[in-house]
Amino acid sequence: MNALSDLTAIERDRILAKTARFNPPPPMLPDGRRELIGLTREEITAALADIGEPAFRTKQIWHWVYHQGVTDFTRMSSIAKPLQAKLAEHFIIGRPEAAVVQTSTDETRKFLFRFRDGQEAETVYIPDPVQDRGAVCISSQVGCTLSCKFCHTGTQTLVRNLGAAEIVGQFMAARDSYGEWPSPRGETPRLLSTIVLMGMGEPLYNYDNVARAMRIAMDGEGIGLSRRRITLSTSGVVPMMDRCGQDLAVNLAISLHAVTDDLRDDIVPLNRKYPIKELIAACRRYPAASNARRITFEYVMLKGVNDSPAEAHELVRLIAGIPAKVNLIPFNPWPGSAYETSTPASIDAFAKIVMDAGFSSPVRTPRGRDILAACGQLRTESAKVR
Ligand code: SAH
Ligand code: SF4
Repeated sequence: MNALSDLTAIERDRILAKTARFNPPPPMLPDGRRELIGLTREEITAALADIGEPAFRTKQIWHWVYHQGVTDFTRMSSIAKPLQAKLAEHFIIGRPEAAVVQTSTDETRKFLFRFRDGQEAETVYIPDPVQDRGAVCISSQVGCTLSCKFCHTGTQTLVRNLGAAEIVGQFMAARDSYGEWPSPRGETPRLLSTIVLMGMGEPLYNYDNVARAMRIAMDGEGIGLSRRRITLSTSGVVPMMDRCGQDLAVNLAISLHAVTDDLRDDIVPLNRKYPIKELIAACRRYPAASNARRITFEYVMLKGVNDSPAEAHELVRLIAGIPAKVNLIPFNPWPGSAYETSTPASIDAFAKIVMDAGFSSPVRTPRGRDILAACGQLRTESAKVR
């Protein structure tokens, strides 16, 4: 190891130790039953051994839980009734409770999920208007430690990390809501077939739980999503980006939003720790990036703040040579926010410069505008009502 990678490793361990302090308690009911969701296969095998059951049951149970989506042991028809009853004595297969479900006129469906300790986080299903499928946008934390100025979640302090059961549980519960589990004829789900970690929180500040949840989602005998169908969005936790590339190799999205350190320091304060140059270098070495799997640079369009043609040219210069696309996101206003959305004309002009430089630059269509779509808003509203 060279000195640089030594330093990165130290920094990474520091982040992991510091963020683990926000972990939830292990998922267990007051009566001692354990949550099966979120356990690795090895942990399930060990838990089964504790109650005197052989290891081969793990595979069976795993299939029922993650492939068939059952939450009731009596539906595990390949398992004899007495064992079903014994499993139910020791385990549960839970789901977060849907405290609020809102479906927009454009079919976007937003959930506020409540976890066992009463904490809440948002999940959104965003259908793809062209293809007959869509993406589930999942939260990784309740609140966020970072305070990006344009982000509603950034106004909430971090309450805690979500556990692996809660992260994968959002996806399972969203699938329940659409009945998207394989039919007895073996047809596989299509609608909810992509995960984007773009909900509340910074996933790379909750790396262990996120990684565990994504490994479960990618397990071929369960949910079976390919790593190409998962995108992790980060505001730029550089030391953890390398780790994520090595371990998970999912698609990466970077919340860039500014092309100079002066501006980015202000609107994405994490930039003061990991400035643009380091961030772009980490993108260049991200192992899972290729022309087939480009890194997405997210760029929120803030009127008069970051949307000039000069900034578009600088953006193109910064990311030259990276297999990348640029996702332009019209700012989604929320009560009390200090910004306005760029005009359609300036968004188009910006997009054209990026496109002429050879990068695809889709403008994200605002979705679910009629249902409190800015991330974090639903949770705030729910807290107010209570
Ligand atoms: N914390 C991670 C992932 C969650 S935010 C991150 O920052 O990348 C997902 C994306 O939505 C980020 O690009 C974020 O900057 C953007 N975003 C947050 N608030 C927004 C708003 N009000 N309007 C438009 N985009 C917003
Ligand atoms: Fe946190 Fe992402 Fe919002 Fe920034 S944009 S405050 S990192 S959730």
